[in-house]
Amino acid sequence: MKPAPFRYHRARDVHGTTRLLAELGEDAKVIAGGQSLVAMMNFRLARPAHLVDIAPLRELDRLGPGPGGALRIGALTTHHTVETAPDTVLGPGFSVLRRAMGWIGHLPIRTRGTVGGSLAHADATAEWCLLAVTLGAEIVATGPHGERRIPADAFFLGPYTTVLEPDELLTEVVFPRPAPYAALTEFAERKGDFALVSAVVELDIAAGRVRGGRVGLGGVAPVPVRVPEAEAVLAAGGSFAECAAAAAAAADPPGDTNGSAAYRTALIRSLVERACVEAAAGTAAAATGTASATGTARKTVSR
Ligand SMILES: Cc1cc2nc3c(=O)[nH]c(=O)nc-3n(C[C@H](O)[C@H](O)[C@H](O)COP(=O)(O)OP(=O)(O)OC[C@H]3O[C@@H](n4cnc5c(N)ncnc54)[C@H](O)[C@@H]3O)c2cc1C
Repeated sequence: MKPAPFRYHRARDVHGTTRLLAELGEDAKVIAGGQSLVAMMNFRLARPAHLVDIAPLRELDRLGPGPGGALRIGALTTHHTVETAPDTVLGPGFSVLRRAMGWIGHLPIRTRGTVGGSLAHADATAEWCLLAVTLGAEIVATGPHGERRIPADAFFLGPYTTVLEPDELLTEVVFPRPAPYAALTEFAERKGDFALVSAVVELDIAAGRVRGGRVGLGGVAPVPVRVPEAEAVLAAGGSFAECAAAAAAAADPPGDTNGSAAYRTALIRSLVERACVEAAAGTAAAATGTASATGTARKTVSR
């Protein structure tokens, strides 16, 4: 199918774009990489009367350090740019982001799809949304009257719904501090599909001991969620298996034609434990490939 008719606008600068969006109101949609929006338009699930193409805003295609060891990622940075960024750009403490990119779709999608588009699209199992919530990222939204910074856990309201106003552009995401002991792992029916369930674990390790950590899940609720019950197990010195069991016990995943609730619960247990093990191996092991999340044994839990 082809999209419904629309008027095309080419963005020239961020401020002018937000003013244009304010003028056009709810009838307008921003297009970045087009990897989600074009499909929705072709299926007539989205019928914007105006399409504002922000691809020319090259100032939003940037990746580099921010204050206090943070990493700043401009909205138009592609998944592939992160996937191929050297440590000198990404910083060794952020290699979890590089490794996570291998889970997103296929190479052509990763070369066009953008970090900002993925966050704004807010699919409940999108890797960037889960990483942002679990690692405590801040999302920067720019509107005609200035900028606001939104913690990722307050940004997502539900599937495909965020707190962005129609006249706001997502301009940047900021990951606040290095996460050298972190890993994302997931299960999808076929390579390149959106995950059925995904897990991110970040461990706080000092002197070779786990002192605590963060556990996040995608695909188990309308938005990505942290799991305090599993994090409490890590803080109390429990094993990775106990942490995974706590995550599975705390979650209340939906069941549908892709998998029952019980199947998703089994996936949570398996994926959280695996993410803990990969996170503990840390950046050095990941760099040598021993803890690589990309493409390895996705199907460890059978139906
Ligand atoms: C076959 C296939 C498989 C895929 N698999 C995965 C997967 O496994 N995991 C995954 O995470 N994604 C997956 N994707 C989606 C892909 O990651 C997209 O790149 C991403 O969801 C959207 O990025 P985009 O730049 O293409 O955004 P677009 O499609 O251009 O826009 C998506 C939405 O975000 C809005 N938007 C875009 N940029 C901004 C901005 N800066 N400010 C405000 N609003 C904005 C648009 O208005 C639109 O509503 C897949 C896509 C395909 C086609």
